[in-house]
Amino acid sequence: EDGDDFESWGGELLRWITDYRKNCKKSHVISRVPHNYLIEGPMALPGSAPVEPEGYRSIMSDLDSKIVPGLTHWEASNKFFAYFKPHASYPAVLGELLCAGLNVMGFDWIASPACTELEVVVLDWLAKFLRLPSKFLSISEGPGGGVIQGSAGESAIVVLLAALKKKEAELKGKTGGRQNMVVYGSDQAHTIIFKGSKILGVEFHEINTVDSDYKLTAKALEAAMAEDERKGKVPFAVVATTGTTSTCVFDPLEEIVEVAKKRNLWLHIDAAYGGAYACLDGYEAKFAGLEGADSYVVNCHKKLLCPFDIAALYLADRNPVLAALGVESEYLRNEASESGAVIDYENWQMPLGRRFRALKLWFVMRRFGTVGMRDHVRNGTVLAERFAGKVKQHDDLELACAVSLSLVCFRWRGEGEGKLVGLVGGGGAGPGAEIKAVLGDKEKLEALIGPAGVGGRRDGVVEELGGVVEKVAREVGKD
Ligand code: PLP
Repeated sequence: EDGDDFESWGGELLRWITDYRKNCKKSHVISRVPHNYLIEGPMALPGSAPVEPEGYRSIMSDLDSKIVPGLTHWEASNKFFAYFKPHASYPAVLGELLCAGLNVMGFDWIASPACTELEVVVLDWLAKFLRLPSKFLSISEGPGGGVIQGSAGESAIVVLLAALKKKEAELKGKTGGRQNMVVYGSDQAHTIIFKGSKILGVEFHEINTVDSDYKLTAKALEAAMAEDERKGKVPFAVVATTGTTSTCVFDPLEEIVEVAKKRNLWLHIDAAYGGAYACLDGYEAKFAGLEGADSYVVNCHKKLLCPFDIAALYLADRNPVLAALGVESEYLRNEASESGAVIDYENWQMPLGRRFRALKLWFVMRRFGTVGMRDHVRNGTVLAERFAGKVKQHDDLELACAVSLSLVCFRWRGEGEGKLVGLVGGGGAGPGAEIKAVLGDKEKLEALIGPAGVGGRRDGVVEELGGVVEKVAREVGKD
């Protein structure tokens, strides 16, 4: 392999990425390619890999002609309003490139000390930036600490397994089996909790929150647990969400902590999206009670300027996770591990191998500084308020619920008013607001803005709002 070739085409690719990110804002957000377009038809790729090596020029040419047409432009900050939009900042993209270029494996300390130690340092930086209780810091007296996982979903599985094992040990195995053990959360909790429960073979008791403003209350939790206990089931964990996926509701942590404490249950807090906002003044009350959590996850690949995948998982006590996942193998034995003086992240996660993900967060935190990061998060809330103001002024639209953080949920008035027939998608105007339209009348909205499809609908809504989303994004947007 030729390093010079890498350098020149690497430069070319960086230029390509920069141009793409500028130009994709002008394109239609969602792809219009037919199903299976790369598998059959005029744009299909060959059925087998090339036998002879090909030049970068021909690969890049296919990138333009075959891959780009099939992209949904997530980085089209002025138009993409689907989901909780991540924002892959340039420093983070460079950190990601470096991660691939160095290609170190950080499963244990000796495998690459810098990989482990940078992770310890930046996760403590992040914890301080997000004003987390000091028990979650690695560099402290206690047994707590942070670890980077690929996603909030993986994090949930890791901590629920730890919680499960802890409860099994406490009850000396007299639990009636995994299928008898129950984790609690609201019907607004992310599906990852349901999926995690399936993987672990436990029950997820999904508590209905329609009558409590979509919040998980202590009263409902108590009632659900009492009912399950009467049936001989064993509660072992509670998952609270600070910023639910649909409407960004905050579960009342302080009262949930009390319920969990009373039964010695593990309390996990899913702050995948909402967690970033803890860096802002004025949001302290939303996170009150965090001190009582056993684990807490915030996705840096949501509002914290990093590309997927980097979830910061914080543990109040690392030992239950180590007990649940720790393994020993002859081929990995080394003096550093045996000294007990170092962290071996292998035992804090599911896979063995681990990427040097801390680099991208380190690049972001240094390049933006906490001032820049806070501005970015705050900008989202400013945009959301401004956008909500426009929705309120609009004759045919109304807010579906209160604006929370940078999320605006709105719906079409008129026929079918009040009937929530679907969620179009949420999103962020680049550094901006997340916008979710909840349709009152699906057909009418579709007639107005075109066929189904996240980007299509979003484009339509943008048009219908007189380009206001785009305009607001442009005004406040920085990229
Ligand atoms: N938790 C919440 C509250 C979310 O909103 C989401 C995604 O939007 C997730 C978890 C899923 O995160 P991940 O893809 O990192 O598993």
